[in-house]
Amino acid sequence: MIRLARLLRRRLALRSAALTLLAVALLGIASLTGAILVSESRERGRQYERLEELLNTVERTVQIACFLDDKVLAAEVANGLLSNRIVGHVSVIQGSDVLAQGGPTDDRHAGNRPLERAIMSPFVAAEQVCSIELTPDEQEISRSVMRASLFTGIVLTLQLIAIGIVVVLVVLRLIILPITRVSLRLESLAPESGEKLNTPPGNRDDELGRLVGSVNGMIDHLVTSIHDERTLRLQREVDERRFRSIVENVETGIFELSSEGRMLSANPAFRRLFNLDQALDLDVQDLRFAEFVGEEKERVNTMLVQLVNYGRPCNIELKLETGEYPRWVSVLLNRFEDDRLQGVANDVTERQMAAHAAEHMAITDLLTGLGNRRGLMKRLDQSMRIVQSDPGYSCGLVMLDLDKFKQANDTYGHAIGDRVLQHVAKLLTDLVRQADYVSRLGGDEFVVLLEGTTRREAIARILDRFLQRVNEPIRFDPDIEVSISASLGVAILDVNAQSAEEVLQRADSAMYEAKHAGRNCYRFHPSLG
Ligand code: GH3
Ligand code: MG
Repeated sequence: MIRLARLLRRRLALRSAALTLLAVALLGIASLTGAILVSESRERGRQYERLEELLNTVERTVQIACFLDDKVLAAEVANGLLSNRIVGHVSVIQGSDVLAQGGPTDDRHAGNRPLERAIMSPFVAAEQVCSIELTPDEQEISRSVMRASLFTGIVLTLQLIAIGIVVVLVVLRLIILPITRVSLRLESLAPESGEKLNTPPGNRDDELGRLVGSVNGMIDHLVTSIHDERTLRLQREVDERRFRSIVENVETGIFELSSEGRMLSANPAFRRLFNLDQALDLDVQDLRFAEFVGEEKERVNTMLVQLVNYGRPCNIELKLETGEYPRWVSVLLNRFEDDRLQGVANDVTERQMAAHAAEHMAITDLLTGLGNRRGLMKRLDQSMRIVQSDPGYSCGLVMLDLDKFKQANDTYGHAIGDRVLQHVAKLLTDLVRQADYVSRLGGDEFVVLLEGTTRREAIARILDRFLQRVNEPIRFDPDIEVSISASLGVAILDVNAQSAEEVLQRADSAMYEAKHAGRNCYRFHPSLG
């Protein structure tokens, strides 16, 4: 039963045939019932008409038999009538006598309503001579009615079955089979190879023909769409490969972060820059960008917060000291989507080194390697700022000028003079601490900044030691020995100083004091107290 239901659900032909036949069967039953009822009543009426006709036929003979009182003739008439199967009983009654009768005398036909006919005198029309009663054989009439109804029913049923079959065949032939053929063809169709549906012959101009036309139109559209889509996909794959190749091979680090700073992706250049394992799977490993920038973690976190909150692109230069040598990396971060950041990173170490080298050269004296005037002024500005922000802090400033250096130059030549200057530079550098600053202003003039040292005794101790060493003869060649001395002036850079130039000026005037005092000595500016 379930299989039949499934079959009916899946086969349109079967379903429509079954429904048509069911409709024909229901119609057949209804019309059969109606036809039997109608034919039954018509047949019964016809049988009664026959009985009436029989009475008409024998009426004259019975009139004569009654008029002559001829029982034999009356009996013949009764027997004649009884020869009809539908006649059950016949009585010819004259007054209270029965002139003749025929048929079974038992009560076989007792319940049946007899047909009665009054027989008049052949001479006096108003005078009744007898009557004849004809009782129908209802069983025979019913059998006859039955036969007639059965015949009508069978004819009608056969007609309906024929109509049903014709309808099913027409529906199958004209509708179901063409649709089934189109459907099977559609299932095995390969649209990409240009195959189309064929319109069933005879259906070119009807609904099925139009349906096939529409499906073919859709197939055309589908094939074009598939072709366009395939072309686009191929193009996208080529583009993707090209971009991937660029991203893989470029020297610029390219990476993506979540808005929380989690690494989402990184190209090989980025991994090299930040010492990340090339095989590290960032989908699995939860890595924060700020975690591998060493000391710069705080700056990176601040930058991320700014970028996520205000959406402004950020550019930052990070000094990475995670490797063997410090390196500078420039990182540019952009917000790509609400929860995604995109960044590029470039190694700018060389540029930074070049900038530092240029900066270093700009503040360095080439001959001695000490700071030059520009370097000194820069350093004094820094110290001034510190002193102004911290009034308890102060520095000693020593101005130094070699004595009669011109003579040494003239005597031994400029080259030896240069070596003397380098010698003095080394003496000064060896004498002071790392934090102090030694510079050559130009010619034979030097300035030493003693950070945090302002006590006279401390400074005097340093300068005494210097004078002692500078006075020691310098031997360049076996036969060249140069003796030099220097005059020094000391001033203090503290919160009372107006400017670095003023302090320099004071140290300079103290140094001239030393010159006037006979050279090879030092003097403190009066402001030291
Ligand atoms: P004073 O005791 O008064 O200082 O006498 P001085 O001869 O040292 O005179 P001053 O300091 O004015 O002269 C500095 C000399 O230093 C002048 C110049 O010949 C010399 N000089 C300047 N620059 C250089 C240099 O780069 N190399 C050498 N070898 N000598 C230089
Ligand atoms: Mg000099």
